[in-house]
Amino acid sequence: MTPLRVLSIASEIFPLVKTGGLADVAGALPGALAHEGVEVRTLVPGYPQVLAKLEAPELARNYPTLFGGPARVLAARAAGLDLFVLEAPHLFERAGGIYLGPDGLDWPDNARRFAALARVGADIGKGALPSFACDVVHAHDWQAALAPAYMHYDGGARPRTVITIHNLAFQGHFPAQLLTALALPAHAMSIDGVEYFGGIGFLKSGLLFADKITTVSPSYAREILTPEFGMALDGLLRSRSADVEGILNGIDDEVWDPAKDPNLPQKYSALRIDARRKNRAALQERLKLQPDAEAPLFGVVSRLTSQKGLDLLLGVLPDMVAEGAQLAILGAGEKSLEQGFAAAAENFAGSVGCFFGYEEALAHLVQAGADFILVPSRFEPCGLTQLCALRYGAAPIVARVGGLADSVVDANEAALSAGVATGIQFYPPTAPELLHAIRRALAIHRDAAAMRRLRLNGMRADVSWRGPAKKYANLFRALAAETPE
Ligand code: ADP
Repeated sequence: MTPLRVLSIASEIFPLVKTGGLADVAGALPGALAHEGVEVRTLVPGYPQVLAKLEAPELARNYPTLFGGPARVLAARAAGLDLFVLEAPHLFERAGGIYLGPDGLDWPDNARRFAALARVGADIGKGALPSFACDVVHAHDWQAALAPAYMHYDGGARPRTVITIHNLAFQGHFPAQLLTALALPAHAMSIDGVEYFGGIGFLKSGLLFADKITTVSPSYAREILTPEFGMALDGLLRSRSADVEGILNGIDDEVWDPAKDPNLPQKYSALRIDARRKNRAALQERLKLQPDAEAPLFGVVSRLTSQKGLDLLLGVLPDMVAEGAQLAILGAGEKSLEQGFAAAAENFAGSVGCFFGYEEALAHLVQAGADFILVPSRFEPCGLTQLCALRYGAAPIVARVGGLADSVVDANEAALSAGVATGIQFYPPTAPELLHAIRRALAIHRDAAAMRRLRLNGMRADVSWRGPAKKYANLFRALAAETPE
């Protein structure tokens, strides 16, 4: 097979810079695709934390001015990834978050920052770098979504394009007055162009102009065609439904491998699953939970936002604790949720423990120490925490939406008797249904043999990138084989 070349455009990439699952996907897919004969090079913004880690950067292109300041494209490697880095100090080199300023609000120039990323991606896609010709441009989320639009308005030859939706809730919607500043032509401001509810819609534009649209699970690919989950883009998505495909994410099974995980006090595998005990004890100690070896221990590793349904968990928490459960929460996000869980940790000291913040090592310990991982999301494009849970022998308890529906086999009678159950699903995502699911989990936990089977089934599930990478490779190859426009 001749290697296929893909330019991926992503605003975050693990392990260099991460706020969510997008970074995990952008970071893991290139390695998995390499085994399928697909070479991926990723264009990322030159945030300080990215620039600091570049190995042997070389100048690939100079922009005397790009949306208000000088910029350069550097070709480099970092953390095993082949990168193009958009070094543009006026856009990306500042203290604060990658999307949010110190005040917790979006950077006021986010439109310009990510339009610049997409503009450069479109340039490279169209052959601006003589040493790099690509077959497919793969844009991730709204931050990269203008790339197919720029290529469309530029005219001329272009590679095929794919946009992947990691979360339809984030759409990149900006004022119409920015049209010229974003180097878009006047005629782009129409319903058949970048116009979206009177403004400029970045994601909308990508969905309109990309040759193919993927999202991160088959169920979410169906859900987003409906008004309930379509977040006002369902009409456009329905009109393109023949080009919409869902490919479930994987996880990096090197980073997430309980047998090799340096974050764990005790490494273990399916053959030595009882060794998890030590991790459980370490987790209890870290989060000030009672050192109880028997109590059913529920874990959460999540952004704290209404999407994740954790307000539902707050509602059922007194009942859980009354039934002898412990709860370990690792999360960061909305202050009201943090306050709610902090209050619960005080009221139910020893039974509820929290850490607010982002801590990779603790995320691994929660997965390795908990009996169950709760993911009560109201919607979930894919979800990665339940995949990590499966691999670590913690049974996921999930709302039956999006990728959660596609990755967990509910422990119903049929699945139990066939020996294939890996967790518990519930629907709709409401407090009573969540409580019912937790009670089902408690019943399984009381039956040590059933609990062991559930854990082992999960650990045997293939949650790696191998299967998904084959699907992306097939998609890219099929696209590249089409006659270019
Ligand atoms: P989303 O992208 O919507 O936040 P996902 O489940 O797809 O949700 O991905 C979340 C990723 O971020 C997982 O890898 C999870 O382990 C990690 N994560 C979430 N919150 C935290 C946290 N507070 N500390 C460490 N890791 C976290």
